[in-house]
Amino acid sequence: MRKKVIIGNWKMNNDKQETENLLLNLKNKTWNKEIEVKVSPSFVNLEYAQKILKNSPVEVVAQNMHYEEKGAFTGEISYKMLKSINVNSVIIGHSERRTLFYENDDTIKRKIKTALDNEMKVIFCFGESLEDRKEKRHIKIISKQLDVITNGLKINQWNQIILAYEPVWAIGTGLNATPEQAQEIHKHVRKEIATTFNKNLADSVQILYGGSLKPNNSKEIFFQPDIDGGLIGGASLSFEDFYSIIRSIDKN
Ligand code: PEP
Repeated sequence: MRKKVIIGNWKMNNDKQETENLLLNLKNKTWNKEIEVKVSPSFVNLEYAQKILKNSPVEVVAQNMHYEEKGAFTGEISYKMLKSINVNSVIIGHSERRTLFYENDDTIKRKIKTALDNEMKVIFCFGESLEDRKEKRHIKIISKQLDVITNGLKINQWNQIILAYEPVWAIGTGLNATPEQAQEIHKHVRKEIATTFNKNLADSVQILYGGSLKPNNSKEIFFQPDIDGGLIGGASLSFEDFYSIIRSIDKN
């Protein structure tokens, strides 16, 4: 049985006080223990977030990391730094990193390798652009992006991976994929994993949807058989909205 997962990606939002307010609210709430809840604050607040969440099941996740362990990379953060403050999961391949910070497949692959080799969990984001969808090549694009992660991955490393399908046209735009569109892709991804690896593995990988998830659309999306939860940007900045999204998966 795959566990449900809800991850809040705060991006470059929330200062120290806002981080504290949001996390204290979250810490006071309860939900089904089987649901994994994670938050991804900015680097400067990771350690503070850990401190606030002490004794809470909510995990703190990094938004990015460099593929090298250390060195002359001004402004960058390494897995070693993250692990030294007990942050053991990282988001890699987010479309904002790909488009605004020019991360290509090679960079992404190197980051994933470093994370996996160092016992970190990777939340790997992938998804097509609006043009890809309009031109009906979205499935092909997604297979290519998935190749970055599946090619060379050992079967026993899959338990360090969470996949997040995030159609670029739905991120921060208020346009979400319909439950059917999202389910189609998630099903396709499981099929590809089953072909390259095996069906058991394909059935056990957690695949999240991300893209303008809100309290009023999350339940329908989470109800789809191949969708195991969500990666949430904008709505995770409001405690009420984020908690309502957690509750919407709780009831599924
Ligand atoms: C994201 O950035 O991962 C995301 C899904 O953002 P939003 O929920 O704001 O579309």
